[in-house]
Amino acid sequence: MTNQDLLDIAKEFGSPVYVYDADKIAFQFNRLKKAFSQVKDLRIHYAVKALSNISILKYLNSLGSGMDTVSVQEVKLSLEAGVPPKDIIYTPNGVSLEEIEQVVRLGVQINIDNLSILEQFGAKHPDVPVCIRINPHILAGGNSKISVGHVDSKFGISIHQMPLLLRIVENTGMNINGIHMHTGSDILDIEVFLRASEILFDAAKNFKNLEFLDFGSGFKVPYRENDIETDIEELGEKLTERFKVFCKEYGRELTLVFEPGKFLVSEAGKFLAKVNVIKQTTSTVFAGIDTGFNHLIRPMFYGSHHDIKNVSNPEGKFRFYSVVGYICETDTFANNRRIAEITEGDILAFSNAGAYSFSMASNFNSRYRPAEVLYYNGKAHLIRERETFEDLLRHQKVIDFQQVTLE
Ligand SMILES: *Cc1c(COP(=O)(O)O)cnc(C)c1O
Repeated sequence: MTNQDLLDIAKEFGSPVYVYDADKIAFQFNRLKKAFSQVKDLRIHYAVKALSNISILKYLNSLGSGMDTVSVQEVKLSLEAGVPPKDIIYTPNGVSLEEIEQVVRLGVQINIDNLSILEQFGAKHPDVPVCIRINPHILAGGNSKISVGHVDSKFGISIHQMPLLLRIVENTGMNINGIHMHTGSDILDIEVFLRASEILFDAAKNFKNLEFLDFGSGFKVPYRENDIETDIEELGEKLTERFKVFCKEYGRELTLVFEPGKFLVSEAGKFLAKVNVIKQTTSTVFAGIDTGFNHLIRPMFYGSHHDIKNVSNPEGKFRFYSVVGYICETDTFANNRRIAEITEGDILAFSNAGAYSFSMASNFNSRYRPAEVLYYNGKAHLIRERETFEDLLRHQKVIDFQQVTLE
């Protein structure tokens, strides 16, 4: 997408607006596929929570992707997008037995991440195949800050509880058909990922009827120019080799599963906002834009960096700006950022706005959630309308206080 494409989109659909580049999503999907092309049966399950627009799900499914879901609602969205139940995995944390049973009835593979529910589920439904999520407890050494499934994490079943886990499986006679881990961190150090994988392989040896091993995700994407990112190609080479050895020892070809969210959609997304006001104080020049953390919370929530370009004046002289939102709270997108000279009315484009951006948007300050556009085949397609005032009122009930008093 060129600057002009982005300007045209902001003009046609208004601002703020999310724009996703279909080609970039396909590029990332095929890149991952290629890195693991030597694996006989590779399945990529897109993590729906990253960006759950139904057209995105449909598009990823058309590329050959399955879905990784964390709620029954995400399962239903995936089904609505036409994804067959067999291509959906449900990997929740802390949900009720009832919700898990509901998902089973929809024909979807479930993943259980605690012993209490595992035991209850196994006792009631010994015939339903279950994948288990383990916590490998790997802490990266050296100066790396990455911690994979650390001891205090609420996710997964601790590998130290393996004896108890095995007893539950034996007592209930349940069928474990997959082993899963998801580290949740930005993985840069492939060695750390491989070490966690060793623990997964170790755990897997305890089960006779496995069909797949799910290595989760956590791939890091670049946020700035020349930023480091997970070397997917190197990971592909090393993990494939190790996986093959495991399958040989195990005596059967297993399916290798990944569940990337960020990797597939982060870089495909741009968030376009208009500059409402330039405010010069004694120390700072603020650019106030027509959005806030109600629409893009990552910078305030995680301290994430999003590159910001002035697409209205890309050749302008660089100046320093603090880019802030219109929410009545501190909502700073960027501090003292070098951006091409900004005039009121200009359109700014935020990078890496595909993952955990729209999907975390809210109505705080009673603002409408933005529109979403998919740039596909050289054309902009509206895939979600901007909300309206009716949306804010929907589901609200007005009490007639006079009537209530008389009753
Ligand atoms: C969130 C999540 C993912 C995706 O993580 P990314 O960092 O976006 O790739 C994968 N698997 C599970 C179980 C998740 O909860």
